Amino acid sequence: MRAAIFNGPHDITVGERPDPVVREPTDAVVRVVLGCVCGSDLWYFRGVSPHPPGSIGHEFIGVVEEVGGEVTGIAVGDLVVAPFIYSDMSCPHCLNGSTISCVQGGNFGNGEIDGGQGEAVRVPLAASTLVPVPGSGHSDAMLRSLLTLSDVMATGHHAAVSAGVKKGDTAAVVGDGAVGLCAVLASRRLGAERIIALSRHPERQKLARSFGATDVVEARGEEASQSVLELTGGIGVDAAMECVGTAESIGTAFAMARPGSTVGIVGVPNGEAPFAGTFFRNVGWRGGPAPARIYIPELLGDVLDGAINPGLVFDYETDLEHTPDAYRAMDERRAIKSLIRVGSI
Ligand SMILES: [Zn+2]
Repeated sequence: MRAAIFNGPHDITVGERPDPVVREPTDAVVRVVLGCVCGSDLWYFRGVSPHPPGSIGHEFIGVVEEVGGEVTGIAVGDLVVAPFIYSDMSCPHCLNGSTISCVQGGNFGNGEIDGGQGEAVRVPLAASTLVPVPGSGHSDAMLRSLLTLSDVMATGHHAAVSAGVKKGDTAAVVGDGAVGLCAVLASRRLGAERIIALSRHPERQKLARSFGATDVVEARGEEASQSVLELTGGIGVDAAMECVGTAESIGTAFAMARPGSTVGIVGVPNGEAPFAGTFFRNVGWRGGPAPARIYIPELLGDVLDGAINPGLVFDYETDLEHTPDAYRAMDERRAIKSLIRVGSI
């Protein structure tokens, strides 16, 4: 099959990988319909985070082609959403809400396990990993939104859940990438009344407003947290979300959080939590990699009935053979998030 292959930083090609087959009775083979590039793929591309050579890409939707003898609840021909990791949903860690820690789990597109940027994927633990999508004849816009449940929308939701967003809250989101924009959408979905988006890019501001942002702050760093404090009468926000991961953005999120609140952090951190400024204000943090598989069923309903349309984060599209262009578009900040059209339903 054809698939994107990570050779090293700034070196992604499209070539041949072995056709996936059912190896374990718990496996399924999924033919990929849509894949995309994650912000974390970009860190590998830029050489900021290490990635082994081989398969890459961990977000995809597709159609089930083959199932092993022990796979239940999933049938050949089903349209399925795959969360970015596979998990058994029955070990102590999955049951405690941390599917990334699954004792049997693993990552798609980790060099060895098939990635979502390819024609097909062998999905281990298919019954507990894949979520079938009910109905048929879904529009392309719907498919794009379904794809976001694989990672980016689930991660934005995780930021909001971790920050404890509730009805009537004032929330603020640091980061106007696809995850930050999804955190805005998730905050609105959870009932936040006022949502402050930190963004200096007109296109992203526009999307943030269409997702529910009521205020936009263009400043960065201390100036940004000062602006948010002014907007909230000096109190700070009920729910601050951090969707970048730099020391500056982490500092900004903590500085705008009101005393007694919890900061939701989903940006892979490259900075330290500023204990000095948080301990005496009773500010905590929660977050980490999203348990997408746990969130997909509840978000799926809202996507299917059109209540949310997170697929709007895709503003660049290409086919599998042009996957390197999909990376470059994001690397050069020409795209918020790149979609890779691999097959059709
Ligand atoms: Zn598990």
